[in-house]
Amino acid sequence: MSKSNDNSKLVIAIDGPSGSGKSSVAKAVATKLGLQYLDTGAMYRAMTWWVLEKGIDPIDGDAVFDVAQVAQIKPSVDPANPIIQVGSIDVSGPIRGDLVTSNVSAVSAVSEVRTLLVQLQREIVQAAPKGIVVEGRDICSVVLPDAHLKLYLTADPAARAARRAAEVGSDPTATQEKLVQRDQADSTRKASPLEVSPDATLVDTTHLDLPEVVEQVLRLVAELENV
Ligand code: C5P
Repeated sequence: MSKSNDNSKLVIAIDGPSGSGKSSVAKAVATKLGLQYLDTGAMYRAMTWWVLEKGIDPIDGDAVFDVAQVAQIKPSVDPANPIIQVGSIDVSGPIRGDLVTSNVSAVSAVSEVRTLLVQLQREIVQAAPKGIVVEGRDICSVVLPDAHLKLYLTADPAARAARRAAEVGSDPTATQEKLVQRDQADSTRKASPLEVSPDATLVDTTHLDLPEVVEQVLRLVAELENV
C-alpha cells in the first residue's frame, strides 16, 4: 500500500490541524529532498468546489457521493507549483475562498468520498519515482500507515489563527473562531477523524519559525537514513 517496503523511495506523512504550518513545511521539505508533494486538503477542497458547482447540498451525503464519483480531481505534485484541477479547470484559487472553506468539513465527513480520495492519494504515492511528502489529517493513521516518517504538527489556536489571518488578510479573532469550529468538526467526525497517530512524532510549532521546523524535520529524516 504505502512505499515503506520500497527502500529506494522516501515517504513522509504529515498531519495536523489548519494553520499548524504543515503545508509550508511539507513543501519546503519536499523541495530540499527533491521529492514530490501532495496536499490532500486541497483534494477535499477541490471535491467541495465540485459539489457546490453541481448545486448539491454538502450535508446530503448520498447526493455528494453521486457527484463525487464522476469528479476528476487532479492535484499537481510539484512543490514549486502546487495547483489543483477539477477536469481541465484550475481551481487553486476558488478552493481557498470562504464558501469552500466553510463547507469542506461536511464533504470530507462523507466516508464514501474519503474512500475515493484515499485511493487516488495512494495511487499518486505509488507513482512517485523518488518519494513524496503527503500532508493532511489522516495520512499517518489511514492513508499511509507504513510511511517512513510520520509527523503531527500542531500549534496553539491563537498562533495558528494569526498565521492564517496573515496569509489571507482576515481578522485574527474571526479566523480563530472558524478555525476552532473546523478543528472540532474534523476531530469529532466518524470517518477518519483528525487525531494524533500514536507512532507519529509531535512537533509543536507555536514558537518556531518555518526554517526551524524544516530543520527539525530534516534532522528526523537524517536519523531515519542512519538506522
Ligand atoms: O488542510 P486544509 O485546511 O486545506 O484541509 C481542508 C479540509 O479538508 C480540512 O478541514 C478537513 O475537513 C479536510 N481534510 C481531511 N483529510 C485530509 C485533509 C483534509 O478530511 N487528509
